[in-house]
Amino acid sequence: MATAGLDDDSLQQLRSRATQLLLKEDWKESGAVDLSEWVLAGFSGKCPDLAEHVGPVEVRRSSHGGRGVFAVKNIDAGATLLISKAVAIGRGVITDAADSCEKMVVWKDFVDKVLDAAEKCPKTASLIYTLSTGEEPEDELPVPDIAQFKQEAEEPDDGTAAATESAPEVTLDVDKILKLLDVNCLTEDAAPSSNLLGSNGVVNCGVGLWVLLAFINHSCHPNARRTHVGDHAIVHASRDIKAGEEITFAYFDVLTPVGRRREAARAWGFECQCDRCRFEAGDAILGQELARLENELVNGGGDMGALVVRLEEKMRKSMVKERRKAFLRASFWGAYSALFGSDKLVRKWGRRVPGEAAVAESVAGAIGGNESVLRAMLRGAGNGDGCGNRLEVEDKVVRIGRATYGKVVKRQAMRALFKLTLDADSNKSL
Ligand SMILES: [Zn+2]
Repeated sequence: MATAGLDDDSLQQLRSRATQLLLKEDWKESGAVDLSEWVLAGFSGKCPDLAEHVGPVEVRRSSHGGRGVFAVKNIDAGATLLISKAVAIGRGVITDAADSCEKMVVWKDFVDKVLDAAEKCPKTASLIYTLSTGEEPEDELPVPDIAQFKQEAEEPDDGTAAATESAPEVTLDVDKILKLLDVNCLTEDAAPSSNLLGSNGVVNCGVGLWVLLAFINHSCHPNARRTHVGDHAIVHASRDIKAGEEITFAYFDVLTPVGRRREAARAWGFECQCDRCRFEAGDAILGQELARLENELVNGGGDMGALVVRLEEKMRKSMVKERRKAFLRASFWGAYSALFGSDKLVRKWGRRVPGEAAVAESVAGAIGGNESVLRAMLRGAGNGDGCGNRLEVEDKVVRIGRATYGKVVKRQAMRALFKLTLDADSNKSL
């Protein structure tokens, strides 16, 4: 549906209009943060001061028996769910990715800091002990009250509170803490569901413990992302979330076919039972064709445009519903990206597949905001393939922008993030 393309000026206008819309929304809600200045300063200078925040979520027992974080009310994409300060972070610059010694130094430093923090503060220690070591039967683990994670309301400011708090001596169960760190720490790197703002391309190795975040489970159909700012992790909704829905991250790249994701999940020590995996692995009619397509995608070398056309035709013939189409497009995102990234392939196959912006919108519905998807949306909109009239397109760009980065920046800063998104090497995220 490629209609009249937008020139650079119109694209610029489109972006600025889109970002203006961001301002109009009531983004100044509880837990809102504004990182605009820092983003505009190129992430340099002092990290913005953030206060810890627990949004409308709580820890509950999840359907698979373990524990998870759940929404207690409807939440819009982009809204802040949690702002959490790390118990400790170990950081280092890794000069050689294959050098495990460098990583060990970072890990040891991290463990020392966690033990130190737990020893100094009984509250920190008790929070750490709410985590699982991965060895206990999941359904026997107690479900912590969310109030434990909220900062004490209005402590007196005269220092008396601190004096009374430091009373009890804590004897640490170092063995247990080591075990639970193994399964609960998060890395700060630009994991598929996280933004590491301010990394400036330095290969950092950062590992940290954010206790409440460790309760968030994986899904290949995730609805949240995290952004690391200094020692804080900000978790935002990357899709609209309904009250009662479980909050999930992607622990690994979910813009890949089901076979790849199963391998990745096994490396993390679990079998993914999300609705997307169940559909993709369990659909007998599509199954064989999907397996063939996955093989071709993983082996590479073939005509990715032809692959996309086959997938789209198969979905049309099998009357796959929109939501499931979105799952499959996310799985074959690599092929769509190759197609849209090549003028030659677009000329050859473009008329037989939906436009780039339409595919991006569909995929964002499945996996939420993501830089690679946002880039496709911006590019598609710029090529006049905006799946709608101008206002609709603007609205879609804004929605995916907010779903990707969260409502943490104002107009100009969002424009800067859009530019970074477009500039980033599109192959890097594949
Ligand atoms: Zn899954």
